Amino acid sequence: MPLMTEKLECIVCGRKFPRGQGVTLVIGGKEYAFHSKRCALKFLRRVLEEIDEGILTKAFNNVVKEFAEELEELREKKAKKIV
Ligand SMILES: [Zn+2]
Repeated sequence: MPLMTEKLECIVCGRKFPRGQGVTLVIGGKEYAFHSKRCALKFLRRVLEEIDEGILTKAFNNVVKEFAEELEELREKKAKKIV
């Protein structure tokens, strides 16, 4: 099959869609395909239920911190522009 017409299959709903559309995640060298953000979120929510709560809480707090720092940077940049 030529690369241009390569079809992926959504893990969650089984819908087929062309590569480049939808959402793909590469975890541990393996690719996971979802035809929509909704299906990806549904899948990820289920994944989160499988992960040890201690590890999960730590990861969540780390990412919250990262976003907080990014937001802070953005706000500082905006503040400088106004001044
Ligand atoms: Zn889907």
